[in-house]
Amino acid sequence: MTCTEFQTRAATWVDGELDAAETLALDAHAAGCARCRSLAEAERGFRQLLRRQPRESAPTELRARVVAGVRRSARVRALSPWLAAPAAAAAAVLLALVLRPGTPPPVIGQLVDKHIAYAQLESPAEFVSTDRREVGEWFGARAGLRVTVPDYSPAGIRLVGGRVAEVGEQRAAWVIYEKGRTLMSVFIAPVAAGGPRLEGTRVSFRGHEYLTSERKGYRTVSWTDGPAVFGLVSMLDYQALLECADRLRLTRAEAARL
Ligand SMILES: [Zn+2]
Repeated sequence: MTCTEFQTRAATWVDGELDAAETLALDAHAAGCARCRSLAEAERGFRQLLRRQPRESAPTELRARVVAGVRRSARVRALSPWLAAPAAAAAAVLLALVLRPGTPPPVIGQLVDKHIAYAQLESPAEFVSTDRREVGEWFGARAGLRVTVPDYSPAGIRLVGGRVAEVGEQRAAWVIYEKGRTLMSVFIAPVAAGGPRLEGTRVSFRGHEYLTSERKGYRTVSWTDGPAVFGLVSMLDYQALLECADRLRLTRAEAARL
């Protein structure tokens, strides 16, 4: 077993959810590899920290505002600056994931669950850096994922770092941001054959189609773009999420031109 293979399964191993043969294989690798052993220890500490955290909950009035917000964003062309979004509602997760044909997992739900858990942490990043290029390169080296890291600093959203997340059996890059003390993250992974199965209410924003939905008080905005499927999960209103989505599209287009 290589270090990469170990690290891909480490989170599942720590959770004790691998079968016996795989567990033994990872036990053996950890016994002989100090680096992977320390990564696994960090993961275990991370999980313990997660279990100690209270769950974040979304106020009812926020939900009401979001419902109003999505109606507005669906029909208004010129939107006010998303910088004005209240900091208290600023948790956001932007997700891109791989979906496999025939086995459509409740992907958005899983990502919302991960966000709820990770948003409680002081430092959820596996790789900490405020450098967009550095974070992109880390994903390439760590998991072979090509990741576009958008710049949300004009909106006061600071890059924190990255984490490789498992969604179903797929690997997704999770780029983590924060606004004040609230997390915002971006999941990115190549799309598999068969295409995505995303669900939600159709919304058009600046000439692009998105799907919106709400789970557990968090908003999601998802879409397909070229080789990736994206989903945005957040406590921000839909208007801000759609701005984030649009900015990611622009960043990807710029990267493609270089
Ligand atoms: Zn190793």
